[in-house]
Amino acid sequence: DRHPEPQFAPDPSKKTLVILGTGWGSVALLKKLDTENYNVVVVSPRNYFLFTPLLPSCTTGTIEHRSIMEPVRAILRHKKAAVKFYEAEASSIDPDRKIIKVVDSSEIKGATSETEIPYDMLVIGVGAENATFGIPGVREHSCFLKEIGDAQQIRKKIMDCVETAAFKGQSPQEVDRLMHMVVVGGGPTGVEFAGELQDFFEEDIKKLVPEISDRFKVTLIEALPNVLPSFSKQLIDYTENTLREEKIDIKTKTMVKKVTDVSVEAEISRPDGSKERVTIPYGLLVWATGNAVRPIVKDLMSKIPAQKDSRRGLAVNEYLVVQGTRDIWAIGDCAVAGYAPTAQVASQEGNFLGRLFNNMAKTENHETRIQELSSRMNIQAGDSAEAAHEIESLERQLRRIKDIKPFRYSHQGSLAYIGSEKAVADVSWWNGNFATGGSMTYLFWRSAYLSMCFSTRNRVLVILDWLKSKVFGRDVSRE
Ligand code: FAD
Ligand code: NAD
Repeated sequence: DRHPEPQFAPDPSKKTLVILGTGWGSVALLKKLDTENYNVVVVSPRNYFLFTPLLPSCTTGTIEHRSIMEPVRAILRHKKAAVKFYEAEASSIDPDRKIIKVVDSSEIKGATSETEIPYDMLVIGVGAENATFGIPGVREHSCFLKEIGDAQQIRKKIMDCVETAAFKGQSPQEVDRLMHMVVVGGGPTGVEFAGELQDFFEEDIKKLVPEISDRFKVTLIEALPNVLPSFSKQLIDYTENTLREEKIDIKTKTMVKKVTDVSVEAEISRPDGSKERVTIPYGLLVWATGNAVRPIVKDLMSKIPAQKDSRRGLAVNEYLVVQGTRDIWAIGDCAVAGYAPTAQVASQEGNFLGRLFNNMAKTENHETRIQELSSRMNIQAGDSAEAAHEIESLERQLRRIKDIKPFRYSHQGSLAYIGSEKAVADVSWWNGNFATGGSMTYLFWRSAYLSMCFSTRNRVLVILDWLKSKVFGRDVSRE
């Protein structure tokens, strides 16, 4: 064979660091990590990083999905030492044998699609899955909004609803059902999606399919008394008023209890304390009720006695070490460190671990060198002054490196797009906070998200998509 595959050659003198996931947490860690210090192996069923803040814009084609994806291979290419990437899903972790089992869950499988990978150090950054609370019919009939495939499915279904509603001889009731887009969950995902959907309708569908335009309706259902519960009162009011102006129907204190292929059944709590059961027909249903723990994380938690009281994910200490283990760290949505499950938290945690691991490697190198020098001093007395000097300097550096402070999250603020070129922002400023909403905030939202994009390539693609949909309108081909 004249062209052998370049092999990732693990160095037996280095520890093997296995990183699970290619999301916000793991990619921030990879960016910071000096890969020369470890044999680094990355395992994820997704061979790309996804910029989730702009995912709602992909559901309507304001942004094309590939503009917010960055291939892992391109990220790893820039690292100093080669990193092994396996596109696979970790199916279980054995903390006693220090081994993970992985399976290739993609469409094409080779003769080997299941294997084991040993680790010395393991970082779990697998994120979370969609919460359904066991409500019947949710998994079968609704769309989630977490992955690229979800956004593509929603985009297709919106147009399918529109084209089916415009079909010859459709009854008025059926047109109303098909044109009713229901969003369950008034957190930032649900609010941003509802806003994007209404924009799409106002700016494009109305012009292109005028015959059904007066029937289009977006309903946002939230179990709590208001939407965006994590934002300030002033911004909640601003958001709810703006959504109402956009003609989005907000149903708060309404909890969905059951889902069928054509309707949702919900319970409304009335001000007098009574409850009313209603059936709401829909054409498209998007389920955005937050996070649930992934099976692999649940399985690991059940193997560690110290995790028995943890419910929302892997409880970690202030250095992000999984409680009850020594060589496993957890970051992002799968970790419980006392912060909200956001990209901001996940990326700061990943960055922290990158620094921590770089320091740990430096510490080990320094300690080995000090040992070497000390034993040499005992043998060759002639060199001792020079060696003693170097030892002193190394020890000074060691004290500085070893003094790494525990992880502390620094909140930069919360931002959400709410439709009709308006956004809301709760921003931390010096020691204070300020809340703002409106069109200027929208410009701020756009520039903030642009600056956060992974690469210049992503940034350029997103700008071009924004321009393209503004100038030519969104592409309504159903594909
Ligand atoms: P993720 O980014 O979800 O990554 C998890 C990774 O693990 C993925 O690569 C996945 O493929 C991989 N994986 C899954 N299972 C396995 C397995 N078994 N083995 C190996 N790998 C596995 N946060 C903000 O701060 N600001 C925002 O504006 C914002 N907007 C959002 C918009 C939407 C629509 C959504 C859904 C979320 C948004 N968030 C936002 C939240 C943010 O995306 C998450 O908090 C963040 O993605 C968490 O990062 P993570 O690394 O823990 O997980
Ligand atoms: P979330 O947990 O923030 O909100 C889910 C909402 O669904 C809750 O308000 C809950 O009361 C409601 N709900 C639950 N069950 C229900 C039911 N049966 N019927 C009706 N309503 C029900 O979820 P999310 O919006 O997906 O956000 C997840 C995480 O990602 C959060 O930490 C959020 O801050 C973050 N995120 C941030 C942004 C942003 O900053 N722009 C955007 C999206 C997501």
